[in-house]
Amino acid sequence: MKKALVLMMTLLMAVMMVAGCGGGEKKKAEAPKVLRVGTEPTFAPFEFQKEGSKEFDGFDMDLIRAIGKQLNMKVEILNMGFDALIPALNAGNIDVAAAGMSITPDRQKAVDMSDPYYVSGLVVVVNKDNEAVKNVNDLGNKGIAVQIGTTGAERAAKVPGAKVKNFNTNAEVFLELKNKGVDAVIIDKPVAEYFLATGGGKDYAKIVGDTMEAESYGLSLKKNSPLTKDINKALLDLKKNGEYDKLYSKWFGAVKK
Ligand code: GLN
Repeated sequence: MKKALVLMMTLLMAVMMVAGCGGGEKKKAEAPKVLRVGTEPTFAPFEFQKEGSKEFDGFDMDLIRAIGKQLNMKVEILNMGFDALIPALNAGNIDVAAAGMSITPDRQKAVDMSDPYYVSGLVVVVNKDNEAVKNVNDLGNKGIAVQIGTTGAERAAKVPGAKVKNFNTNAEVFLELKNKGVDAVIIDKPVAEYFLATGGGKDYAKIVGDTMEAESYGLSLKKNSPLTKDINKALLDLKKNGEYDKLYSKWFGAVKK
């Protein structure tokens, strides 16, 4: 009886040692998985590159890095055109798009969109000396600059007779307004506000009218991606543990609940 017990204990210890060693080696060899994130970085304060820097800064960038940490994944950020993000997801070239992308029924058909993480809306921006345009209804037959593939571009396309100019970046959109190549810009409110407050916009531009339709931003993933539920879980965890609020107040001041 005693012998059998000793034998069993020895065996058990041997098994545990082997299992322990194996596990240790496996852990060492397993590098964290990479989360390939696509963005279009002319959308401050959500995603931008400081002058002369290749670093990606902004609320979305902080948020996706925090999500990466939560999922134990290494975040790699890739710079691409806004209208290239959904094709890149579908082609499997990126795993997630973090680009202030509004959740719309059309996009939800093309890709998975996460739970909303920010409430936004569109506004009209004109030159400071423009007294004729008071809101979107005054834009008929006028020139409007927008970023290609955005909800702002969709809204502009609905303005009767408008001459819509599409640009790849928002830097070009605002420059076109400055050069008076157009009468107005249609863009997301928080981005317009940030541009007026810190991006040099206050010298020549102003917001007119009310915020148009409300929009919510979501992260997007390939249709039926197994990562979508993990991203939603991570987002929820960050909201619960206060990390989301910290990032929100870092970029937007007071925390909106
Ligand atoms: N929120 C807008 C959209 O989804 C604009 C996004 C952007 O320009 N990055 O179309």
